[in-house]
Amino acid sequence: MIPTAFDYQRATSIDDALAKLQASDGGKLIAGGHSLVPLMKLRLSEPTALIDVARIPGLAGIREKDGAIEIGAGTTHHDVAASALLRQSCPLVADTAAEIGDPQVRNRGTLGGSLAHADPAADYPAAMLAVDAELHLKGPKGWRKVKASDFFQGLFTVDLAPDEMIVGVQFKPVRAAAYAKLHQRASHFAIVGVASAVEVKAGVIQWARIGLTGAGTHATRLTAVEQALAGKPATKQSLEAAAALATLDEVNSDIHASETYRRAMIPVFTRRALEGALARA
Ligand SMILES: Cc1cc2nc3c(=O)[nH]c(=O)nc-3n(C[C@H](O)[C@H](O)[C@H](O)COP(=O)(O)OP(=O)(O)OC[C@H]3O[C@@H](n4cnc5c(N)ncnc54)[C@H](O)[C@@H]3O)c2cc1C
Repeated sequence: MIPTAFDYQRATSIDDALAKLQASDGGKLIAGGHSLVPLMKLRLSEPTALIDVARIPGLAGIREKDGAIEIGAGTTHHDVAASALLRQSCPLVADTAAEIGDPQVRNRGTLGGSLAHADPAADYPAAMLAVDAELHLKGPKGWRKVKASDFFQGLFTVDLAPDEMIVGVQFKPVRAAAYAKLHQRASHFAIVGVASAVEVKAGVIQWARIGLTGAGTHATRLTAVEQALAGKPATKQSLEAAAALATLDEVNSDIHASETYRRAMIPVFTRRALEGALARA
């Protein structure tokens, strides 16, 4: 289908994008366009204007600052996957980006677009939960910081006002972290995706953070598994026992996988993600 008519403007800075968004009366930001354009073609989204943020100087990039990693919202999945800094200090995030779609999607799609869109099967949300990322948002009232665990609230629903923009994310790098994903063959979206991060000291798991995507309406932490792991020896038996607790109240069912199949896969991919994280501890 052909989208409804819209105006197109290119933003030159974050403040310019916010000003254009406010002036547009029903406009939307566009970054890679890989989620928004398909919605517009189906007329599920009919923005009056597209404000292009893809070429805002400084909105893309990955850097280390005061022991934390910052990734700009405009950073493409390809650049996250290829980042030497992330590969060295927090390979989970680079691995997750490398799992997204195909080279075309990874070359255009951005971190900010993926987090704002919050597809229930998107990969990044699980990783952002596992590294306990903080999202940096800017709007007409100024800056706001939101924890990933508070950001994802429901089906395509996040803590982001229509006049706000994601500028970037920040997190403390965790080396002992991994992503395990059962992907849908055609699009590569997650049927079940689990990102886990652990800290091990003297053979004992100090804490674990686990983000699940693909299975429910939105990405969520598997807190029962996290609690079951804290204080346990870092052994295969501990992982298996804790992973067996991995579940959700409401699980998706669609043409790609039934609820029963997804329910069966949640503990399997939780265990695999934990094994991957422990192998890096
Ligand atoms: C064939 C195909 C396969 C895919 N496979 C996967 C996959 O395996 N895993 C996966 O996770 N994703 C997958 N995707 C989705 C892909 O990762 C998208 O690129 C991503 O979800 C959206 O990023 P974008 O930059 O393209 O955003 P856009 O499409 O430009 O925008 C998406 C939404 O985010 C908003 N937005 C964009 N930037 C910002 C910002 N900085 N601040 C606030 N709001 C913003 C827009 O207004 C819009 O509402 C796939 C997409 C396609 C087309």
